[in-house]
Amino acid sequence: MSRIAYVDGRYVPHRRASIHIEDRGFQFADGIYEVVAVIGGRRFDEPRHFDRLERSLGEIDIAMPMSRAALASVMDEVVRRNRVDNGILYLQVTRGSAPRDHAWRDDAAPVVVMTARRQLPPRAAAVEAGVAVITAPDQRWRRNDIKSVALLGNVLGKQKARRAGAYETWMVDDAGRVTEGTSTNAWIVVGGRIVTRPLGPEILDGITRAAVLDVARELQIAVDERPFSVDEAGAADEAFLTSTTAYVLPVTRIDDMTVGTGKPGPITARLLENYRRLIDEFVKS
Ligand code: PLP
Repeated sequence: MSRIAYVDGRYVPHRRASIHIEDRGFQFADGIYEVVAVIGGRRFDEPRHFDRLERSLGEIDIAMPMSRAALASVMDEVVRRNRVDNGILYLQVTRGSAPRDHAWRDDAAPVVVMTARRQLPPRAAAVEAGVAVITAPDQRWRRNDIKSVALLGNVLGKQKARRAGAYETWMVDDAGRVTEGTSTNAWIVVGGRIVTRPLGPEILDGITRAAVLDVARELQIAVDERPFSVDEAGAADEAFLTSTTAYVLPVTRIDDMTVGTGKPGPITARLLENYRRLIDEFVKS
């Protein structure tokens, strides 16, 4: 089956899909993106993704390219044309193309690109054994709350993890505290309380993070939204990471430190189980 992409108003074969060489997303990383989970052919947690998209666009002064309803119908079509039952939808909005100039023209028309592909949920082996993360200085800019396509710091961090045989890199601020993973939010469990960095310019407002906080409240597990250091993480009872594609994934090693017993912990398991329940309820709804 050939894949289909949506590019600036057209549905085109994926392998021939292209943008203008002076698209500002290409030249300046001047754009925003979203990755939405497609489960049973439908998009999970879509309103939160729309809220985050609208906020990120607003922060860099790009107008919503079309209404939510219009974006949703393009998303439906992209998912349908690619026959994605379970997978991800990628949506990108750039400031559009214009003769190269750092400052933008107010009449630039945003360019929307969407793709969808099948993708399996996290592998059972990783969930059962937990994954390793390494740590590295957070080298990114200072507005990581904006879901910008400028991902070089994240890309370099992820590659470092891959080369080290780890799943993820947890990035660390100048004060030695973990900000987040390169494509995931970072969490630890200490004395029965879950700890994650509070929202702010240093981290992305993860959609899975928000859902897991809801789950924790429902289960009456105490939550501390506060920064934590690498040493505290290494000494924690449990650790895990979250994202749209990783769900809730136990972390059992941080650099050369074993977390807790070295096996996924019980609170992480409860959070994952209940996050999966949310997904099941969504599928049945
Ligand atoms: N942090 C960063 C830097 C990310 O890129 C992502 C996802 O891509 C996340 C956190 C997790 O966000 P979400 O749960 O919305 O997938």
